[in-house]
Amino acid sequence: MATRAMLRAVAKRTLPFHSSISRFASTLVLAEHEGGSINASSVSAVAAASSLSKDNSISVLLAGLGPSLQEAAAHAASCHPAVSQVLVADSDKFTYPLAEPWAKLVHLVQQRGGYSHIIAPSGSFGKNILPRAAALLDVSPVTDVIEISEPNLFVRPIYAGNALCTVRYNGDSPCMLTIRSTSFPVPPSSADSKDNEAPISQVDLSTFGEDSRGKSRYVNQTSQNSERPDLGNARIVVTGGRGLKNAENFKMIEKLAEKLGAAVGATRAAVDAGFVPNDLQVGQTGKIVAPDLYMAFGVSGAIQHLAGIRDSKVIVAVNKDADAAIFQVADYGLVGDLFEVIPELLEKLPDRK
Ligand SMILES: Cc1cc2nc3c(=O)[nH]c(=O)nc-3n(C[C@H](O)[C@H](O)[C@H](O)COP(=O)(O)OP(=O)(O)OC[C@H]3O[C@@H](n4cnc5c(N)ncnc54)[C@H](O)[C@@H]3O)c2cc1C
Repeated sequence: MATRAMLRAVAKRTLPFHSSISRFASTLVLAEHEGGSINASSVSAVAAASSLSKDNSISVLLAGLGPSLQEAAAHAASCHPAVSQVLVADSDKFTYPLAEPWAKLVHLVQQRGGYSHIIAPSGSFGKNILPRAAALLDVSPVTDVIEISEPNLFVRPIYAGNALCTVRYNGDSPCMLTIRSTSFPVPPSSADSKDNEAPISQVDLSTFGEDSRGKSRYVNQTSQNSERPDLGNARIVVTGGRGLKNAENFKMIEKLAEKLGAAVGATRAAVDAGFVPNDLQVGQTGKIVAPDLYMAFGVSGAIQHLAGIRDSKVIVAVNKDADAAIFQVADYGLVGDLFEVIPELLEKLPDRK
């Protein structure tokens, strides 16, 4: 595996960050939920919050409408032993996760709670809401955090993941972060800890403005109805690139993923060529993955793609070009034609029961 260049740029310390934070932190975690549960990346955000300081009080904020929100709140209350309370904003203003009302909600809850930190996972949910909320609170967010060294000292990748930058936050409170969930895994033992049922409170929305919807309008949501694991958290990911040539051929990748119980990924070139929808894109402008096994077929290994797969434990690449950049990061590389290799794998691998 090629050595990864790492650059550490430590920002100069100027004013001491609110000294109370190093002794006591109180964190608001913005959680995304679906089907009555909060998602795995939100639990990772709680794990990140718990690493800020020992005596951190962690409040999980959920917004939505109706019974599935209340179910998700119950899940949030027991999802991690570090959760101190769950705050629920139940209103038709939050039927859809639009950024404007959510950002205003964060502003409102922060004004009441005076949290030292606000954390969201670094997916499209967090990336959509947190910067808007930061603008309302007039602070500068620190994004894509992969390591928390101190309550105000964070490591984040720069230059498409080729360098790591250590950032000291010297701004006003709250310190707002998006975290890469792959860097804050949740051990199965701490998930769903029924021993810890944190209290659930409803957020008083009586002062929440009527004009909170802003300029965005919900149109519709399309999602793949698939049995496959979620790309962001899958143990195995099988990715196809432009080398697949068309959408019909890309189905070989889907069949292989099915046999392996894997999630399907794609390069931006494959997405742009219309082989698969863009929610399968892996990389700097797609999903960041960190599976145990990452298999790349017909993928050149452009820097922007590698930015999304660097934390994979084992990378396997099949490419007909022996000089393809993907081989520099691959643990196992096979120079060969994917149109021969994949059918052979499909034939030899047993079907999943
Ligand atoms: C700002 C920016 C952001 C970007 N973000 C992303 C991102 O998030 N994710 C991403 O993936 N890209 C991203 N890109 C695009 C990136 O630069 C590359 O263009 C893209 O990753 C290339 O995809 P690819 O490897 O599928 O295609 P190509 O570079 O065209 O490579 C195709 C590979 O397939 C191999 N091949 C062809 N036929 C076969 C065969 N029969 N058998 C085996 N191998 C074969 C070829 O040898 C080649 O190496 C971004 C670019 C920019 C500028």
